[in-house]
Amino acid sequence: LRQRYAAIRHMPSMTHDGQQVSLLLNAGLLIDLQHLDETGADGIGLYRTEIPFMVRSSYPDVATQTELYKKILDAADGRPVTFRTLDIGGDKTLPYFDAGEDENPAMGWRAIRIGLDRPLMLRQQLRAMILAAAGRELRVMFPMIATIAEFRAARALLDQELTRAEDRGEPLPDRVKVGAMLEVPSLMWQMPQLLARVDFLSVGSNDMMQFLFAWDRGSPRLSDRYDTLAPGALAFFDDLVRKARSASVPLTLCGEMAGRPLEAMALIGLGFRALSMSAGSIGPVKMMTRSLDVRQFRPLLDQTMHRPVETLRTVLRSYARDRGV
Ligand code: PEP
Ligand code: MG
Repeated sequence: LRQRYAAIRHMPSMTHDGQQVSLLLNAGLLIDLQHLDETGADGIGLYRTEIPFMVRSSYPDVATQTELYKKILDAADGRPVTFRTLDIGGDKTLPYFDAGEDENPAMGWRAIRIGLDRPLMLRQQLRAMILAAAGRELRVMFPMIATIAEFRAARALLDQELTRAEDRGEPLPDRVKVGAMLEVPSLMWQMPQLLARVDFLSVGSNDMMQFLFAWDRGSPRLSDRYDTLAPGALAFFDDLVRKARSASVPLTLCGEMAGRPLEAMALIGLGFRALSMSAGSIGPVKMMTRSLDVRQFRPLLDQTMHRPVETLRTVLRSYARDRGV
């Protein structure tokens, strides 16, 4: 199997009927960047900036952060890199930052909520990203956005930092693309306003599923209880793809489900054209993608997506088997 994945490494990630699907990597440490060449991934769809913060014993200053982000962009060598601003709080703690304690940490003071309440921290991070991306494309996304006001406030901090860099005569990024992570269900009912303001959207399905099903993503007792392909989830994705497409806003999914071939198959069937996953998943998901005939598969999905998820899984598995995956 390893050999079969290696054999398709340099082949395009395209469905059998010619639909291009970007397969991207999730990364958090510099060492993860070596997987880009190893897997033939199209870029970094999610760079979790909190990971390098978590392995340090003190807060990294702007210069340290700039150097790190530069190395990441250098290693990506022109392939797109999407930096996710700090997602700390919840289960991700920093030894040098006291985020206090919440009764429900996943829904507590975390991610962009901390960033907006401690704007200096977020501004320093954005400053470092701007410096690192001088002369290149900068892609930034904000985690756990729940309201348009939060997205606007976060984007305003980025704009402030861009103006500051310009005023100081610093070389600027060539292009800046700003996106929101879709992890909180409330955003689904603010789509027209959101889509008008973002350059791209990325579904953080780990958190989105957690909040859609009220399903603690870390609880071992619940790990088998819900299914990310259940009718409620698929109807959500279907609706989202239509909305993003009608506004021509690029849409990615970067939670764990993107890296599971059957899940990826359903997502591509629904219309996703970019998925971000861990390195070990690129080969299996690419193999599935290349075997998939979306035009033929879509009616099958439409017939079964509202049936019990066991039925859908049986249909997906037998389709994959028939296509030799
Ligand atoms: C997610 O929630 O799906 C996601 C990609 O972010 P994280 O797993 O880092 O919370
Ligand atoms: Mg998340």
